Amino acid sequence: MDIRIGHGYDLHRLEPIAPVGTGRPLRLGGVAIESDRGPVAHSDGDALLHAITDAILGSLGMPDIGQAFPDSDPRNESRDSADFFLSAVRLAREAGYAVVNIDSTVVLERPKIGPVKGAIRASLAALAGADLSRVNVKGKTHESIGPIGRGEAVEVHAVVLLGRVT
Ligand code: MG
Repeated sequence: MDIRIGHGYDLHRLEPIAPVGTGRPLRLGGVAIESDRGPVAHSDGDALLHAITDAILGSLGMPDIGQAFPDSDPRNESRDSADFFLSAVRLAREAGYAVVNIDSTVVLERPKIGPVKGAIRASLAALAGADLSRVNVKGKTHESIGPIGRGEAVEVHAVVLLGRVT
């Protein structure tokens, strides 16, 4: 059995959304989420897509998302992070692998992602070209402790399993 496991992590600082602050509209897994705070980022700041992209790239032993899509490159300014994700899925496919499953945890004090979890899973499954049953998203708070608990950041952990298909 030829399988590859990858781990990804991302964190973005959250600020009031522009023009009040420097935050971008909050997006997780390609889904827009109603919030008065959003990520400070060069791209669209989708921390969930970033973490899973890094997990896929990591499983392949390839350069990470920051190396592949540097924030010094103006082409990545305000970029839809689905581009990064789809690029990683394409690299996996070219290497002969498909997504077996994805699991992830979003640590966000507010808003709670429960109401949009289904939409996020569906979005990720569509982007990954995987069945919905193979994609999971869990939401947690940081129990009001530390910067994440104060709503100053969103943090995401992800693991991905790839299996050889060719
Ligand atoms: Mg990021």
